[in-house]
Amino acid sequence: MQFEHTPTEILARLDELRAADAPTEGGRLLSYVYDPGVAELHDLAGAAARKAQSLNGLDPTTFPSVAALERDLVGLARDVLADGVDGVVGSVTSGGTESCMLAVKSARDSWRAATGRDDRPTLVIGSTAHAAFIKAAHYLDLRLRVLPVDPDTCRLRPADVRAALDEDVALVVVSTPSYPHGALDPVAEIAEICAAQSVPVHVDGCIGAWVLPWWPGAQDRPAWDLRVPGVASLSVDLHKYGYAPKGVSVLLYRDRDRHRRQWFATSAWPGYAVVNPTMLGSRTVMPIAAGWAVSQALGRGGFAELTGQIAGAVEQLRKVVDAVEGLRVVGDPVGPLLAVATDPDVDETRRVDPHRWADAAKDLGWVLQPQPGRVQSDGTTLPRTTHLTITPVTESVCAELGDALSAAADSVRGVPGATAPAEFVAAAGQIRPEDLTSENCAAVLGLAGLDPEGGLDGPMAELLALIEALPEHVAERLLVEFLARFME
Ligand SMILES: *Cc1c(COP(=O)(O)O)cnc(C)c1O
Repeated sequence: MQFEHTPTEILARLDELRAADAPTEGGRLLSYVYDPGVAELHDLAGAAARKAQSLNGLDPTTFPSVAALERDLVGLARDVLADGVDGVVGSVTSGGTESCMLAVKSARDSWRAATGRDDRPTLVIGSTAHAAFIKAAHYLDLRLRVLPVDPDTCRLRPADVRAALDEDVALVVVSTPSYPHGALDPVAEIAEICAAQSVPVHVDGCIGAWVLPWWPGAQDRPAWDLRVPGVASLSVDLHKYGYAPKGVSVLLYRDRDRHRRQWFATSAWPGYAVVNPTMLGSRTVMPIAAGWAVSQALGRGGFAELTGQIAGAVEQLRKVVDAVEGLRVVGDPVGPLLAVATDPDVDETRRVDPHRWADAAKDLGWVLQPQPGRVQSDGTTLPRTTHLTITPVTESVCAELGDALSAAADSVRGVPGATAPAEFVAAAGQIRPEDLTSENCAAVLGLAGLDPEGGLDGPMAELLALIEALPEHVAERLLVEFLARFME
């Protein structure tokens, strides 16, 4: 067969394209990627994925290896997160968002079955719950009730959950921990309150549930997983701290019937019988095989060792941030995530804006993740922060990273945070939803000095200030326009 380009040329082109990416290994990117810093694991994952390259996860009866891999992953998750609990079942999904959405689908359909109603139940979440639940409510048409969290600890308060419960509530979500601040919600207290009213609780352990079991002092902390009565389901992403390539997560249920309501089946068409545990039809098995291989290689001992490295790095970095005048770690995070905000207790001239700090760190070669401040429904404010996801590889660069974080703070101390131009915000607030066309949005982005074609290479502080200041529906539409035009 005559190729239009040789494999060598094609792969060289791919390398060229990849050269523009943020570095996925080496610890300089502190979000999106989870680098164990072990080259053999990376190679093993690639080799395993390759063996699964031609499979279709659509039909595990035709490809029983798919069932075997998924059974092993669910079994491992059950051993770690549902120790001693009988009857726990689950599925492998394509990622955290899909796990969260399926947990909500199962809860919605269970609520409908139990109540005999076919209208919209309510999904109760804290304001720090992952956006995947906002997406789930949107796609699956549930009413969304967002509870404020304690602005100091960023944890959901049991009393607020109690007050939110009524017969319309299909599911309450808690996070272990939350993505934005690494705050561990009080799972047992909330689950007890919900159980008394027969409302199921989902534990979103997408990011935390594969490190917290091995975190120093884990045995002395109260249980937060499926061992807690009242917890109906739990999600954990293997493409985060399971060190698998993107595309694999596990969703566990205490109860078979709840699990089955996540599924979709139809015989109402003239093609093959459709029986799908997850949202996709044809689906890749590559990340599943890779995640399986990594878990076989590491075992619980390996995960514990890597978690120890993360915990060591977190401890060092907390010390660094605590020593930086003008910054503070938000709340009392447990686990691999840190959110850093301005320290309001120092004089204004000594404060450090976390987004300016992230921009300065980027100039030094370290990519942190700015997060917007938000006013909660009770009027309290969650401050703007910068997020760090710590991985095992962070330990090996900790001293260098710590120096960069201090130097970045020194370079922007006293520089006020960005604010959105008032005229611009006022004008954008006037835009009627029907006028938010692609054309108009592009014009507004231009007015704000944002050029989608340039991407987000420059400072982020101004962009975050815009997101904070604009009405949600406008900000959301502009974000869509920005990214869509970047990709075009
Ligand atoms: C990452 C994450 C999710 C969503 O996961 P994706 O894999 O990005 O779809 C959900 N919840 C939490 C707490 C997360 O950290």
